[in-house]
Amino acid sequence: MQSVNTNSFIAKFPGLQMEQIKNSAYVIRGVIYMNKKWIRLKLYLPHFPALSGFKLYVQQHLEYKCYNSGNLQIKEDWQLEDLLTHLVQLLPTTVSIETSSLREKNNIYAEILELNKPQEYRLQLDECCSRIRFSNFSEYESHYLELELPSLRLLEYSLPDCISLAGMLADGARSLTDVLNLYLKLLDELRPFYDSFADIDELCDVLQPSPITTKHNSRVFPLKERVYLKVTIADPFASYGSMAVQIIGPTEEVAQLRHVLSDGLSSWDTELDMHKNLLRIFDLCYFPMPAGAELDQLLEKNEEEKHCNICYVYRLDTGEVPLVSCDNPRCVLKCHAACLKEWFDTLIDGKTFLEVSFGLCPFCKAKLSTSFAALLNT
Ligand SMILES: [Zn+2]
Ligand SMILES: [Zn+2]
Repeated sequence: MQSVNTNSFIAKFPGLQMEQIKNSAYVIRGVIYMNKKWIRLKLYLPHFPALSGFKLYVQQHLEYKCYNSGNLQIKEDWQLEDLLTHLVQLLPTTVSIETSSLREKNNIYAEILELNKPQEYRLQLDECCSRIRFSNFSEYESHYLELELPSLRLLEYSLPDCISLAGMLADGARSLTDVLNLYLKLLDELRPFYDSFADIDELCDVLQPSPITTKHNSRVFPLKERVYLKVTIADPFASYGSMAVQIIGPTEEVAQLRHVLSDGLSSWDTELDMHKNLLRIFDLCYFPMPAGAELDQLLEKNEEEKHCNICYVYRLDTGEVPLVSCDNPRCVLKCHAACLKEWFDTLIDGKTFLEVSFGLCPFCKAKLSTSFAALLNT
């Protein structure tokens, strides 16, 4: 696909999609709105960017009528945009090119044209005009919003799942413009929430989630050898107020660090961000980062050491990495919380699981910290 052409093309005709079939052969399909008329079309261009040999199919009622250079007069120096902008004049006026299904939805499609603001966000419609997607919002590039048309039913969006966007829309939004404005307002309101994770994402070795997306409201990263912090913001609209910090690791260390943490939380400095506050609480200059390039030659061995002792994999499909270790500092146990649970589940019966689950290490029978329960809950 020729990206330069395609970008300006999308901005001008958001209802059209362009697809490369092979080499210089392209197909364009979708709807365009011209001179108060909706036109649904398919255009084959075997020699793009040249228009030679084009075949244009325009929907008339329920059928597509085919046009080519034989029955549609185009100028020799025309490019794709010229053809599309002249389409209404070119097509026979006796033919009604407005389809009944589009006429019913006319209002919402006129609204879509007004909402097409390539400077502020990217707007895309699917081929059947039954799905609209807003993405690449200025200042909020990784965010997106996808709706069904014309019902405005919510399909996909970039906010955390704990935010009930569907509920909010049911309460207030009446039109596509309302929905979009509400979404933009929420993005502004959620700025402190996203900002609070920014330094952690940049400066800590975030192990979970992976990859980090705009939907995630927690982070797990190492505090020291075998000990991890899990920070969760339960209500993204009240970042600090709903924040929870859990410590995951061997029992004794966790118990000690919990005291340090609760003392520190009482003197939380709201002027500083979450990352700086946590460093202050644990009296650190920085949190551990992954091993640097000098260890590259040992990487293979490293990777093996990182694997889960139960399933021999590092990262599970769920994104989970092995964080469970036992209280015996000489024990090799390192596994996924999920694998540990599964292992316990295979023991004789459920009762054993309840008694043993966070009691004894399957390898050395030393104690396992209850803090791993926090991991199993995710
Ligand atoms: Zn495992
Ligand atoms: Zn052990």
